[in-house]
Amino acid sequence: MGEFELIARYFQRPVQRAALGVGDDCALLQPTPGMQLAVSSDMLVEGRHFLSTVDPRRLGHKALAVNLSDLAACGARPLAFTLALALPAADPAWLAPFSEGLLALADAHGCELVGGDTTRGPLNICITVFGEVPRGQALLRSGAKAGDDIYVSGALGDARLALEVFRGTLALPEAQFAQARMRMEQPTPRVALGQALRGVATAAVDVSDGLLGDLSHVLAASNVGARIDAEAARTLLGCPAGTLSPEQVLQCVLAGGDDYELVFTAPPSARSHVKSASIQAETLVTRIGGIEAQTGVRVVDAEGRLLDARYASFDHFR
Ligand code: ADP
Ligand code: MG
Repeated sequence: MGEFELIARYFQRPVQRAALGVGDDCALLQPTPGMQLAVSSDMLVEGRHFLSTVDPRRLGHKALAVNLSDLAACGARPLAFTLALALPAADPAWLAPFSEGLLALADAHGCELVGGDTTRGPLNICITVFGEVPRGQALLRSGAKAGDDIYVSGALGDARLALEVFRGTLALPEAQFAQARMRMEQPTPRVALGQALRGVATAAVDVSDGLLGDLSHVLAASNVGARIDAEAARTLLGCPAGTLSPEQVLQCVLAGGDDYELVFTAPPSARSHVKSASIQAETLVTRIGGIEAQTGVRVVDAEGRLLDARYASFDHFR
């Protein structure tokens, strides 16, 4: 199978909304008048972001999910994406499920594949997504204010649990592992919630490297600090805690990574609007702390005592 047959067979489909899709030198997109384009790229590298044994269908899903998560964090509506793919071989047994997993998530969000590049090489998947957001309404990292509440969508920490099982540092009962693994391999981008939070959230970011690490980007951009309620944070673990210690649960929730949930801020006066957004998007939202003028992050217990453990975030270059 040659390069062009491969593209035609697995990645070329009739155009939907785009003015021009796969097959010419460029794709053409027609954004709605009055909207700004939101653009983001994410690359997945074998051995770094996923294991060679991962189900290609789940990998296709995840490659797009992590990109849609960035659009969600901006409050943008997905439009289209491109796919740059390096493949060791043109293997139909891998390509068919990969493209099915990818395009199923694309269809679920009305986000069409409009182009890309295909080359031989070590497995590497780079997607660029395009979304649109009403001019001036994108959710940024820089808008958090002292006194705002801090919220997180869905669940946190499960992907890290699964990773630790794969690394052999942790053993989990089978059902608990299956649930955690699902969260690691098939994250749910919070696209509807992101859009529902436009005009409600003062700042937002998606959690890819760990809650504290990603929140710190918001804090730095907004020049503020945060207090995190450890008790509330512990409730964010999606799978049952089982035999995990409260400390282990907190570690996974605060610094786990690979969660693709939204962390966002909003003033207390907007609590009912946050609740409406949560209901409208059918996405659980939990309040876990507040923004403070003093910079830095303080994790506190139920009595307000400072927990002095250091919660490191995941950094690819550390
Ligand atoms: P060019 O040589 O102009 O870069 P290519 O020969 O690489 O074009 O690609 C031919 C067409 O197929 C282009 O429209 C390109 O966007 C598209 N394409 C290439 N690889 C992919 C892919 N993995 N998924 C979707 N479209 C692709
Ligand atoms: Mg090319």
